[in-house]
Amino acid sequence: MALRVVAISAPHYQTGRIGERVLSSSDPVSLFNACRHAAAAAARRSGVWGESNWNGTRIERRRSMLLLHSLEADVAMFEAALDEVRPHLLLIGAMSLCLPGAIECARRAREMLGDRVAIVLGGWHASETIFRAPGSARVVHHAGSPVRLMAQGRLAEDTFDVVVSGEAAGLVTRLGELIGTAACESSAARAVRRGLHQTASVPGNWIAASVHQGVVREVVGSTSSSQDAPLPAPSALFGISTVFDVFDHNPTAHVFSDSGRGCIYDCTFCSEGMSAVGSRPQLDGAAERLCGQLATAATIVAEDHPVRKAAAFVEDSVFLGGSPRAIERFVTLARAHPPGVTFGCQFTIDQVLARRDLLIALVEVGLSYVFVGLETSEPLMIGGLSKNVRPQTAWLHRMEAVLAFLSSAGILCGVGVLFGLGEDQQSRLRLVSVLERWRTTYGSPCTVSFNWAVQHPLRGHDGGRNYRYLDWALPNTDWISAFEPFGEASALYPLAGRQHPRLSEVEELRGAIETLNRSNLDTAGAAVSRNH
Ligand code: SF4
Repeated sequence: MALRVVAISAPHYQTGRIGERVLSSSDPVSLFNACRHAAAAAARRSGVWGESNWNGTRIERRRSMLLLHSLEADVAMFEAALDEVRPHLLLIGAMSLCLPGAIECARRAREMLGDRVAIVLGGWHASETIFRAPGSARVVHHAGSPVRLMAQGRLAEDTFDVVVSGEAAGLVTRLGELIGTAACESSAARAVRRGLHQTASVPGNWIAASVHQGVVREVVGSTSSSQDAPLPAPSALFGISTVFDVFDHNPTAHVFSDSGRGCIYDCTFCSEGMSAVGSRPQLDGAAERLCGQLATAATIVAEDHPVRKAAAFVEDSVFLGGSPRAIERFVTLARAHPPGVTFGCQFTIDQVLARRDLLIALVEVGLSYVFVGLETSEPLMIGGLSKNVRPQTAWLHRMEAVLAFLSSAGILCGVGVLFGLGEDQQSRLRLVSVLERWRTTYGSPCTVSFNWAVQHPLRGHDGGRNYRYLDWALPNTDWISAFEPFGEASALYPLAGRQHPRLSEVEELRGAIETLNRSNLDTAGAAVSRNH
């Protein structure tokens, strides 16, 4: 076999059960997207990838893609995969809090396989820490750039052979080709390091970097405007293994309108804002692409789970950029060709209230669940929220109006709460009480995702925090236990200008959240989003 590959989503935490009840997807969504181009080549039996371990069925391909939650719980599964596949190429996707996990996984892979494996790190952390200076071709490395950390000797230089920033699906394919066609088969690591300059013709907005004897080498993607053919939907390439209770435990695909990342609201704390991503959504053809992905999800569920119904969650930061025109186009297409999928998506509070007619039209074509980012009880207390675009009415009153409307329309609602934005403990506890009251009144929100705001690198828009992210975000079992009902949370990386969380306060919140979770609705296994 010319090429053997394992891809993993690095663990968030070293141990414990953090976020088990909220971050419940079992599919590594970002990793699927990063690997789509290569998997499509494998599925077509094209070139080196056509002779790789990804050239079989989607179920076989999915076996070498792992979503790791905690290092302690999942490392045995990871090592077993390395042992079984003996990969030439290990792809690691990591958000900033996962960097220690990514480093540990890379270290273990290197110990087991030496330079016979090329270790490539990509994902949100690399993309937010390695970027072009505004208006310039110069590449900037944030203090947390894994490349900078290796060049400074804070990390072993062979931890990652290549670090990739940006949307680089085509680059993954090319890196595999470098290994598969290398004369020196015994060192995949050398093949990608030496051949990295040959990747410059791969189109896309990406940067790849490696370190050799303390010197950083960078290659940037070609700005060629030639477009590849549209890629198959992730579900067609990797199958669907996630189920959510809000979709009656039916197989749930993660689908996209593929309109690019970059939310127009640009909230300062969010990794999906335009400033952090460096682009804004491109909505031309988005409705068509989304309809196509939903139809594919229906086909895959019919083939792989014939006794179940199909469900999908649309991963756009906000559904079709919140554009009424794009949503109307989607409704028109879905009425003409019903996708046969129950789906959920994300809107802001003010979008729901301003687009009630469109939401009712969406129900006709399958919408059953909406997730909104409430974040806080009092935006003014935290210095404002940029998505709070109608501040004439109190934020919580508008959220309550959303719940009343969605309940009357038969749409389930999930809510995201984000502490650590500068609010005080009393307002946090009050917010949990309000959520409990709403559940009694409206039977909603059916799911609540609690998170503690983490300062992400945000391509340098991090208020000068310059964290390196080398330490686990929750340093000991006390913190791990206190944050157990939370999704993303950190004791070490608070937002710029905000205090570190206090353990006693988080423990108090944990008690309040557990009481809420025991209330009339069970939030276990809820469909949630990381942001928005
Ligand atoms: S928090 Fe939500 S609305 Fe704000 S930038 Fe992120 S995705 Fe957009």
